[in-house]
Amino acid sequence: MHIQQNIQLVRQSIPADVRLVCVSKYHTIETVQEAYNCGERVFGESRAQELQVKVQALPKDIEWHFIGHLQTNKVKLVCQYASLIQSVDSLRLFNAIEKTAKEINTIVDILLEVHVAQEDTKTGLTPTELFELLEVIKQQPSPHIRIKGLMGMATNTDDENQIRQEFRQLKIIFDQVKSTYFPTNEHFDTLSMGMSDDYTIAIEEGSTMVRIGGKIFS
Ligand SMILES: *Cc1c(COP(=O)(O)O)cnc(C)c1O
Repeated sequence: MHIQQNIQLVRQSIPADVRLVCVSKYHTIETVQEAYNCGERVFGESRAQELQVKVQALPKDIEWHFIGHLQTNKVKLVCQYASLIQSVDSLRLFNAIEKTAKEINTIVDILLEVHVAQEDTKTGLTPTELFELLEVIKQQPSPHIRIKGLMGMATNTDDENQIRQEFRQLKIIFDQVKSTYFPTNEHFDTLSMGMSDDYTIAIEEGSTMVRIGGKIFS
């Protein structure tokens, strides 16, 4: 692996106001440490247990993001360790996070995950489900959750035009959600979209946060 060169290349290709999450899932502690030594401080994990092991072994100033499908029985673990849960995809999970955050007396930052890709395999709320969820949570106080924005993935395809259309759709949804539900809320500012193969398109379409694994750790 040429982590230092990889990071340099990625850093050169993203604007300073776009945040980089180094997706370190499945990679060893030593590998993450190497990226840390290059100056990276934000890492993404997709499994609760793996997150816990890495948090405990690595420097304390790392900001950990949880980006995987989260089961409600792992919520407590993840709420303790993650600065941002990017993958909230149901009201049930939202409510479990609110309950846990209250119990451990913290405020948890989250993104709502939206499904815009063509594939059925990808998780996330459909746009309709997203607006239904927002209507429900508008009526119920959730003082222990701060909704920071949206996360989404494009279809895994070579068709650049399709990828662009999906990111564009996500950006339109983001703007709609912001103006409807968070017009004066400065915390709602994050649109997490773009991975190793499509992040340049995502940035062109309005991404504020990219999640890159393979292009760094290979
Ligand atoms: C694995 C993963 C990534 C990183 O994907 P790469 O193609 O390796 O850059 C980004 N986002 C999510 C949600 C992931 O699960």
